[in-house]
Amino acid sequence: MSNCLFCKIVSGEIPSDKVFEDEWIYVFKDIAPKADVHLLIIPKQHIARLDQTTEADAALLSHMLLALPALAKQQGLETGFRTIINTGPGGGQEVDHLHIHLLGGKKLPGFN
Ligand code: IMP
Repeated sequence: MSNCLFCKIVSGEIPSDKVFEDEWIYVFKDIAPKADVHLLIIPKQHIARLDQTTEADAALLSHMLLALPALAKQQGLETGFRTIINTGPGGGQEVDHLHIHLLGGKKLPGFN
């Protein structure tokens, strides 16, 4: 999508701190980290929101989830990690390109 920030990151038009990519996903460091480790896992194809996915996206969504443990391990998160998917304005989503936040490390705040 031509005017999407994360599509521009995938294409290289906007620079990013890339951690991993394969044919389906692109993973980079969040520009304003909320924890010691804060990665964003995004599909290379433009999908705006989780609630716009369908059964046709099942393999992609599965691939995104299954990538998380290896990414966490690569980042040294031996004791676990947190994943967040904000969906729509009511869910606090600011960038309209589906993304999974992967967070972990000492500064990870608890829920309260
Ligand atoms: P959301 O609130 O779930 O949509 O999260 C969007 C995330 O994208 C936020 O954590 C931002 O800090 C992050 N972000 C916004 N622009 C950039 C960028 O250019 N590079 C990396 N991360 C970004």
